Amino acid sequence: MKLAKRVESIEPSATLSINARAKELIASGVDVINFGVGEPDFPTPDHVKEAAIQAIRDNFTRYTPVGGIAELKEAIISQFERDYGLSYQPAEILVSCGGKHAIYNVAQALLDERDEVIIPSPYWVSYPDIVRLAGGRPIIVPTNEEMGFKISPEKLEEAITPRCKLFILNSPSNPTGSVYTKEELEALAEVILKHKLVVLSDDIYNKIVFDDMSWHSIVQIDPSLKEQVIILNGVSKTYCMTGWRIGFIAGKASLISACTKIQSQSTSNPNSIAQKASIAALNGPQDEIDKMLEAFKERRDYFITHFKNNKSVTLYPPEGAFYIFPNFSSYYGKRFNGKPISDSIDMATFLMEEALLALVPGSAFGEDCCLRFSFATSMESIKKGLNQLEKALQELC
Ligand code: PLP
Repeated sequence: MKLAKRVESIEPSATLSINARAKELIASGVDVINFGVGEPDFPTPDHVKEAAIQAIRDNFTRYTPVGGIAELKEAIISQFERDYGLSYQPAEILVSCGGKHAIYNVAQALLDERDEVIIPSPYWVSYPDIVRLAGGRPIIVPTNEEMGFKISPEKLEEAITPRCKLFILNSPSNPTGSVYTKEELEALAEVILKHKLVVLSDDIYNKIVFDDMSWHSIVQIDPSLKEQVIILNGVSKTYCMTGWRIGFIAGKASLISACTKIQSQSTSNPNSIAQKASIAALNGPQDEIDKMLEAFKERRDYFITHFKNNKSVTLYPPEGAFYIFPNFSSYYGKRFNGKPISDSIDMATFLMEEALLALVPGSAFGEDCCLRFSFATSMESIKKGLNQLEKALQELC
């Protein structure tokens, strides 16, 4: 059987593969510490589970409108009002089968062959491949630790060409945990408005922000940006609902209608039961988020203190999300048992085999100097894992 060329143009998600490999090893009895996970390690709140059980009891188990039920759209609109101070109409909201699916719909609806999409790196693994699947060209704009892993207005402007259709901005970022300040967003907004650039603002981690850092979305910077910005959010990370597969976008009605048409000919509606559960998540008590934040902050602080003691590793301290992205490149060129460690894949492989740690090589995010650790795992595992890491690093010469 001859497969389509588009299959060759993309890679399977590195983060999902690492997670699957770690789970396989754990299932076969190997005591692997999984720093690869991209999902909170807390259970879905009870009131959300109850709402799903009730939906099943009520036989809410049939097709729903393609773009989500009215009650869920209302809950999403209320959340946007609370969190962004913006009001949307139901025709400006689309509920999809997870945030990833929502981004996929946007790319399919916006991009023609070879249209360009600006993606600052390090980036979330799936952006470039979702763009490629839609026939578009990812234009990767590198950032670095000194820049806080954030794109500057100058770099953004340099990357804009007449073929540029979209700019993807993700704050807090996966994999770096960087959060753009209001001032940084204001500077970017000038370029965005000047060039009438359409922006996909991936705000999926917006409730996971540490310390006194206040979070802003690019769409809030200027009222006219509402026309140009598509907001992506969802319940996966905030409400520990990764498996339920509910994500959503807010944007111009014409774009939402185009995405809904695409969704109607691919997945149809998102899961009916998960939609009811999501209403409970959005409208119900929010105190579980604070507990999760407290735990993530303690773990993040532990990582930062740990790496301060290893002078060979540099680090941009994450301000949000649940990832840390330290730079291990000073170890590249060293060897283990004669075998060279040349890049982040070699390093991640070495650490999986010798330290029994599952983590994601930075190359998957477009930054080969780094490795991504998720701290969505217990403090006990973090302490044990970091001890194993240091022991293994000492074996390199
Ligand atoms: N955007 C970013 C930056 C992510 O890290 C993820 C998930 O890892 C998503 C979007 C997609 O989330 P979902 O699980 O809802 O598809």
